[in-house]
Amino acid sequence: MTLFKEINNVRDQFNADLERISDLKNCEELKNRYLGRKGFVSKLFSGIGSVNPEERKDVGSALNSLKEELQNKILSAMNNLSGKTEQSRYRDYTLPGFPLFKGTRHPLTQAIDEMLSIFSRLGFDIAYGPEIETDWFNFSSLNLPENHPARDMQDTFYVDDKIMLRTHTSPVQTRYMTQHKPPVRIVAPGRVYRNEAISSRSYCMFHQIEGLYVDKNVSFADLRGTLELFCKMYFGPNARIKFRTSFFPFTEPSAEVDVSCFLCSGKGCRVCKYTGWLEIMGCGMVDPNVFKAVGYDPEEVTGYAFGLGVDRSVMQKLDIHDIRILFDNDIDFLEQF
Ligand SMILES: [Zn+2]
Repeated sequence: MTLFKEINNVRDQFNADLERISDLKNCEELKNRYLGRKGFVSKLFSGIGSVNPEERKDVGSALNSLKEELQNKILSAMNNLSGKTEQSRYRDYTLPGFPLFKGTRHPLTQAIDEMLSIFSRLGFDIAYGPEIETDWFNFSSLNLPENHPARDMQDTFYVDDKIMLRTHTSPVQTRYMTQHKPPVRIVAPGRVYRNEAISSRSYCMFHQIEGLYVDKNVSFADLRGTLELFCKMYFGPNARIKFRTSFFPFTEPSAEVDVSCFLCSGKGCRVCKYTGWLEIMGCGMVDPNVFKAVGYDPEEVTGYAFGLGVDRSVMQKLDIHDIRILFDNDIDFLEQF
């Protein structure tokens, strides 16, 4: 009998045997009988040496396809059988269904999205910058030259002498201005890092939204109008703001912005520490030195910038007293939003 004929016999016999199997154990036995080390298929393979050379290639390929066919058939038989047993064993349609867990967005993400959406409606584009920043963008370009004492205002995580984790979102301003000609109107959200002792009031990482508007004849009144509008849209139509004079190296003049407490409407409560006001951001007119650093002409253009602390706003709005809970991944806390 030629090897071809034997191959066909084995195939017929296998198909007949396959019809008869009823469980996984049978299937395993069938697999051993045909594809095992001493099975029919390997016996056929060992006969290949006695085939005359001109036929050997065809016999080999016929044997390979037989082996593959048997493997596939056994695999699909096993899948069918295991599916059947799983079904009969576990599928009880009278049992209650599995609950579906739905995730929610983190309260910080929700706040950032809402703030960005307000600024978009006011005509601002959204810009992003890297969290690992160079000395030039994080400090020097923002009127904080080396050895400037104001650098000590921000405890910095250094990667090396010239590279650091950004301490504020302000470097996005200078990054953007080096790549775009005025007019520029952007907001830049993101994480910032400070090497501070972690406590209920401060964390080594927090979130800011930076704003920048540069054009001809931009004035302090434009800044105030924009921020007042933003606060009414975010905190509610009764929100009022006030400016207090302040200092930042990259703006002149500079101001801190307080918004009337949205909980007590300015009467005084625990959240506003009975002052009626909440600190929400720093702002000011862009310092001419910043314009010079990015190649803008300070005689041609003026601009304002602001930096809003997202975490603090969220804590005030949600009446949270420990900033750490925002970063603890505590499901019980997060599920409430
Ligand atoms: Zn209050």
